[in-house]
Amino acid sequence: MTDFSGIKTPAYFYDLDLLRKTLAVASKEADRYGYKIHYAIKANNNPVIARTVSDHGYGVDCVSGNEILRAIDTGFPAGGIVFAGVGKSDEEIELALSRDIFCFNCESLEELKVVGETAKRLKKVARVALRVNPALKADTHRYITTGREENKFGIVLPHLRQALDYCKESPEIEFTGLHFHIGSQITSLEPYKKLCDMVNRIWREFDISGYGGKMINLGGGYGIDYRHPDTNSIPGFSSFFSLFADNLELPGGTAVHFELGRSLVGQCGRILTRVLYTKKGAGKQFVIVDAGMTELIRPALYQAVHRIINVSSPGRPERYDVVGPVCESSDVFAKDILLPRTLRGDMLHILSCGAYAESMNMNFNLREKPGSVYFSEGEIVKGGE
Ligand SMILES: *Cc1c(COP(=O)(O)O)cnc(C)c1O
Repeated sequence: MTDFSGIKTPAYFYDLDLLRKTLAVASKEADRYGYKIHYAIKANNNPVIARTVSDHGYGVDCVSGNEILRAIDTGFPAGGIVFAGVGKSDEEIELALSRDIFCFNCESLEELKVVGETAKRLKKVARVALRVNPALKADTHRYITTGREENKFGIVLPHLRQALDYCKESPEIEFTGLHFHIGSQITSLEPYKKLCDMVNRIWREFDISGYGGKMINLGGGYGIDYRHPDTNSIPGFSSFFSLFADNLELPGGTAVHFELGRSLVGQCGRILTRVLYTKKGAGKQFVIVDAGMTELIRPALYQAVHRIINVSSPGRPERYDVVGPVCESSDVFAKDILLPRTLRGDMLHILSCGAYAESMNMNFNLREKPGSVYFSEGEIVKGGE
């Protein structure tokens, strides 16, 4: 049993052994088909985590200039960086060009022109993939939130031809292929099957090979099991990648890239927090902990469910709402969950906090940034060394 007693809370806690194991499984499964994985660093830009991912030979997916700088600082080669996002600023585009990144994922005609003009001015050639909004209908899965027509992401099909022609006519743009991203926390493979069908059709109908396309980037968004993180800590990468191998029908030699964030790092992290107070409300009991929505905003932002355990108390189970100290009514981690009888000073762990927790940390209420603690080769190491 690990001894957490000396750790100042709240803290982000990372199991680097589990992270390394997850990374090894994902790359082994991707290697079977020659697929290339880019780590979506927005999921967690903690330098120890990013360094561990880059050590395993991954590329990286960045959505800001600062993420590009962090990626390079933590060992990712510039030649493995893809730069996505609907709102790249002029400075960020210049930075990316000056670092000779692998590829821009362009999301609008206007952005494409700015990238082209900037490349011309800097006497560079911009490698560009066009992010397509595949207008996948909502009947697939409710978590598909970025690939519908009403979402802000990507170029809609009626504008794709014009974007392809623009690339063809611009010597400062090297068209590489297409990029798709249909959403996040997708736990069923069905939406990806539909995506493959869509991709096959678009590739043919628009004659992407004729425009020089030789790469496809199928985004990320593969989900993790937030309800059973202990028994299901490594996502099913084998069935994930084999689905694409079975369903993509692209010309031989087309490179297939993925951008995975949550599925690589989500389960290796947890938040350690101590109970400040307990109190009874109208028909309920509250546990007030020293972590809040500032450390983990997912429950407040999209009603995300995270398992919470009490590692101090062996008591009989009772029902509690677990809430943070922040002055917002939405600062609630869980409602009506069973925990062993919980007392002031107990330590709780909020599980599955490796992705979109530390990277979304904020200092609302002027709260301090928590420290990070790492677990490696069977023991707790403070600085990750
Ligand atoms: C966020 C994002 C990803 C990663 O999503 P996960 O759900 O963390 O796997 C991949 N590609 C793009 C374009 C993204 O915006």
